[in-house]
Amino acid sequence: MKKSLYIVLIVAGVCGLAAAVVYNTPAGQDAIFKRLMSLALTQPPDTYDGMRVIVCGSASPLGNDPNRAQACIAVVTPEHFFLFDVGARSPLRIAQARLPMSRIDGVFLTHYHSDHIAGLPDVNLASWVQRRPGPLQVYGPNGIEAVVAGFNAAYDLDRGYRTAHHGSEMLPSEHGFMEAITIPTDGIVWDDGVATVTSFTVQHPPITPAVGYRVDYRGRSAVISGDTNAAENLFAAARGADLLFHDALSRTLLDPMIEVTSEANVPVMPVIMTDVIDYHADATTLPEATAEAGVKQLVLYHTVPVPPFALAAKMFLRDLPDDIILADDLHTFDLPPDSSEIIVHAP
Ligand SMILES: [Zn+2]
Ligand SMILES: [Zn+2]
Repeated sequence: MKKSLYIVLIVAGVCGLAAAVVYNTPAGQDAIFKRLMSLALTQPPDTYDGMRVIVCGSASPLGNDPNRAQACIAVVTPEHFFLFDVGARSPLRIAQARLPMSRIDGVFLTHYHSDHIAGLPDVNLASWVQRRPGPLQVYGPNGIEAVVAGFNAAYDLDRGYRTAHHGSEMLPSEHGFMEAITIPTDGIVWDDGVATVTSFTVQHPPITPAVGYRVDYRGRSAVISGDTNAAENLFAAARGADLLFHDALSRTLLDPMIEVTSEANVPVMPVIMTDVIDYHADATTLPEATAEAGVKQLVLYHTVPVPPFALAAKMFLRDLPDDIILADDLHTFDLPPDSSEIIVHAP
């Protein structure tokens, strides 16, 4: 018994020494690097025979958690890849989720606050270099022409540099643009016979127009609120949906933050935190309306404020039913076709 223990210790020591030598020599480092790159870059993206919804950004602008990107929801099916809003840092999540950039169908914007559009140039570049077959289609209500024209103008030199460097065969300049598509605030904005995307007006005063979207695919559905108060129009559009991703404001967190910053005479913050109360949905107003609309799963995202630590996330859910999910970045929801099953993958 004692002898076998010695043998195990000697073998473990020799293996540890060998690993240290490999890790600390150029030849060993090169071999490890090549192996890891091969694992990371040569595996095909995950595919799924149904509708997969991925939270690529769960944050609002109120908070600085580096683990949360700003608003972005991705919907992927074997035939489609839609993005709904692309806030700051969301392109990083899109890359981490290894979403199929070469076949992106379009970006659907809910409104033009910066936390919903700041990632557009990176999404445009990432899909262009993956050989997207034409300009990036960017859908949105009135105002989309001005937003897209502004980005196209700002990145005009960048497009020129990249085509000049990689060649027009690799990066045709005519594919490097974004193309604006103005949508109705209430109506069908995509219908290819397999999937439909429907827009509906939401309440985010004074921002108008502001819309949400519903995606239907092979008997399954997901609704994305964008920024809104609890709106009758949204719950009518969400009737019977499988998933509702709704922006959510927590008075449990916000009220003491306003109090503390006011008492400490912190400039600006108490005013901003008070101003946001009237144009995001108080989380406690959502569960009842969600249940009445027959929605199967409510997921809170675009959290106001962003919970700064785990205790705050727990407090965010206080006074809410247990089955409500507070989204983290890369939370993933699979909806098998023609079924009622919802498979949740926590990140
Ligand atoms: Zn907004
Ligand atoms: Zn927002």
